[in-house]
Amino acid sequence: MRVGRQNTCCQLQRNEQVNNMAIIGIDLGTTNSLAAVWRNGTSELIPNAAGEYLTPSVVSVDDDGSILVGAAARDRLITHPERTAACFKRAMGTSRRFELGGRTFTAEDLSSFVLRRLREDAEAYLGEVVDEAVVSVPAYFAEAQRSATKRAGALAGLTVERLVNEPSAAAVAGHIGEGDEDKVCLVFDLGGGTLDVSLVERFDNVVSVTAVSGDNFLGGRDFDELIARGFCQDCGLDFDALSRQRQETLIRQAETCKIALTSREPVIMAVSDDEISASLALTHEWVIRKSSSLFQRMLAPVRKVFLDAGVGVSELDELVMVGGSSHMPAVRRYIAKALGREPAAGAKPDTAIAAGAGICSGMKARAKDLKKLVLTDVCPFTLGIATLNEAEQGRDLMSPIIERNSVLPSSKEGIYHTARDGQKSIHVQIYQGEQRYCQDNTFLGHLEIAVPPAPRGQQYIRVRFTYDINGLLEVIVTGRDGQSARLVLQGSGMSDAEVEERLKELEALKMHPREQEGPRTLIARAQRLYAMTVGDIRDRVADMLDWFQKELATQEAMRVAKASRKAGEFFDQVEAYLGVGDLPPQDLEPLAGDEEGEE
Ligand code: ADP
Ligand code: MG
Repeated sequence: MRVGRQNTCCQLQRNEQVNNMAIIGIDLGTTNSLAAVWRNGTSELIPNAAGEYLTPSVVSVDDDGSILVGAAARDRLITHPERTAACFKRAMGTSRRFELGGRTFTAEDLSSFVLRRLREDAEAYLGEVVDEAVVSVPAYFAEAQRSATKRAGALAGLTVERLVNEPSAAAVAGHIGEGDEDKVCLVFDLGGGTLDVSLVERFDNVVSVTAVSGDNFLGGRDFDELIARGFCQDCGLDFDALSRQRQETLIRQAETCKIALTSREPVIMAVSDDEISASLALTHEWVIRKSSSLFQRMLAPVRKVFLDAGVGVSELDELVMVGGSSHMPAVRRYIAKALGREPAAGAKPDTAIAAGAGICSGMKARAKDLKKLVLTDVCPFTLGIATLNEAEQGRDLMSPIIERNSVLPSSKEGIYHTARDGQKSIHVQIYQGEQRYCQDNTFLGHLEIAVPPAPRGQQYIRVRFTYDINGLLEVIVTGRDGQSARLVLQGSGMSDAEVEERLKELEALKMHPREQEGPRTLIARAQRLYAMTVGDIRDRVADMLDWFQKELATQEAMRVAKASRKAGEFFDQVEAYLGVGDLPPQDLEPLAGDEEGEE
């Protein structure tokens, strides 16, 4: 996706007094991320240094130790897998560590690099310092993942007070707030790594998400892998026996074919080198057959939201399909058939969520032209406390206070009695999750309150949970005699000092300069194409790369720009040949790089 405008490069001092601090909306995706800003009464998408809206959520440590983000990093998944990480959003809020080029990162560190790049892009585009963002997260994200997302923002120099569920953002962008009639809308968001489904209802000016569900392990990448495996199966190859680089190359090729299949059918997937020579015509029907398990899994969360919301399928007014994988005709048809209605035209699968996050950033900034819209959200999980399990000692039971899918902000109270004679205090343990036993849910924090000793069951406390749209949980425990204790859980789990310290560590790492991103991306692309090809084409890719690097070394802006265009066009051709195998190799333009003064 390209936009026809040039970025202005501007130097901004972050620490100086600046009047205008901008707030942006960010779709921090598993596969791609993008940002938008509320300006002139509309949510405007923000292009990156390459003029594209989508920045791949991929991070790579370059050979010189600097951090690459986006398209260049994405190409290095194939050439330098051990120095590159993708899909780290799936590990948000976990203790998983990523080893890249001798350094160790958490998913939130890696996400912070992506956020930092988007922040820089936004600052360059807007000419203002950007210090705050509304970030969208999958509806199914639990507290640990949400707070990790906020910390990633802090590590990127962004205050993230508000998170918005991705489907809510999509619904807002899909104009569900417009018109007068009440509406029930199903948002089906199938991205690269996750599926989120939610029911969104509109009543007067209030847009509420009434139920959310999803699958954190179902997305476009799964299709790519099944297509690559299916290709091997039908061509008599053993996918699992291939090298990792080989597998990645095939998966990448499968993705290219899958995307091509959206606009034409059939698409030829072909591999030919000294080891393997195989080709196969891919059709929608073939893809559906090879990935039938994925289709079956798509309907479970759809059913669940209708059940949870107590809404019948026949009451649905609108089907909004977003996420890159919602481009797939097979997916569109399958969901449309299951729900008996066509997806709303006009919802842009790739950018709807960012556009919605941009609207939410305008709401957060209290833009006057947005005052009318009220967006509520639901709590995606149950919050409760532990209670004694008399039948099974030591396995406390979860007693829900705020149940899953409660509309936020929500404030609810439960009353609990003492369990033992003469009990002097009550220990309140706060949990999040859907399981019956507390040990299977996530522990969030605890509180203790003194009670006057009395026979069991005679003393009681009231436990009030207040959970707001920014993910702040306030717990107030009040005793019979008016004594009380209070706890606020930001769920962050990391103190400000810890964030500060990690920030210093990360800032010591050099981000690859934004303005040199273009050439660096071309080189990474050339290296990937070199790895993916053989023989004659491979030699030409190598020649082009050599020539391009020589041009780059001149450091003359005009020459570098011309060389970049030429190399880019050449690689486009190689890509077209490689990805879909339709063009014979001789169609590639002969390399005439070293002639001077053309054009
Ligand atoms: P995420 O929300 O995970 O960041 P996106 O919504 O950006 O992901 O979707 C990325 C996924 O969409 C990728 O798996 C990509 O292959 C797929 N995709 C993008 N465009 C198309 C297309 N035209 N046809 C099929 N799949 C597509
Ligand atoms: Mg997404």
